[in-house]
Amino acid sequence: MDQAHLKAESAAALPGAELEGAVRILLEELGEDPAREGLVGTPGRVRRMYAELTDGYRADPDAVINNACFEVDYDEMVVVRDIEFFSLCEHHLLPFYGHAHVGYLPRGKVVGLSKIPRIVDLYAHRLQVQERLTQQVAHLLMDRLEPKGVACVVEATHLCTMMRGVKKQQATMVTSSMLGTFRRDARTRGEFLTLIGRQSSIAS
Ligand SMILES: [Zn+2]
Repeated sequence: MDQAHLKAESAAALPGAELEGAVRILLEELGEDPAREGLVGTPGRVRRMYAELTDGYRADPDAVINNACFEVDYDEMVVVRDIEFFSLCEHHLLPFYGHAHVGYLPRGKVVGLSKIPRIVDLYAHRLQVQERLTQQVAHLLMDRLEPKGVACVVEATHLCTMMRGVKKQQATMVTSSMLGTFRRDARTRGEFLTLIGRQSSIAS
């Protein structure tokens, strides 16, 4: 139902016919014949693919969160780990993908657990750099839930590093954003890192 809502909202700004023209030019510039059988449907497929992979531009994080916040008398750490995501690096338009781990310490307000993976997806479905994705997830929860703190750790593999240039470069990158008590208090941060299976190897 939520998905249908996002789709409806997105109809206005979907990539259009000009994207197909751009893909035809790209194919020609690569030395290909866009009219040959295997490629004739490619511009349409690429347009539909980008519409899906960038639907985060047409989704509103507050629409995801607003109806799913609850007042509760619970102040223990909430952790959602191993949230799988796929994104596109904004430098090369190549995929990077991996897992996000999100934790927060509520101050009277929690959000439905299924909403956190949807927030990760929403920001992942935009052209990204991993550092910004990590911060956007953490800051949104900090702003909207006003918890004592938020932690977000993202581990991802970047195809642009693996497929091109210096192939021996480390392809997996870990980024973290620690806010509030997770930044100030080493014990809170340590508890989170233990819960997600990473010891205290990550600094704030
Ligand atoms: Zn890249």
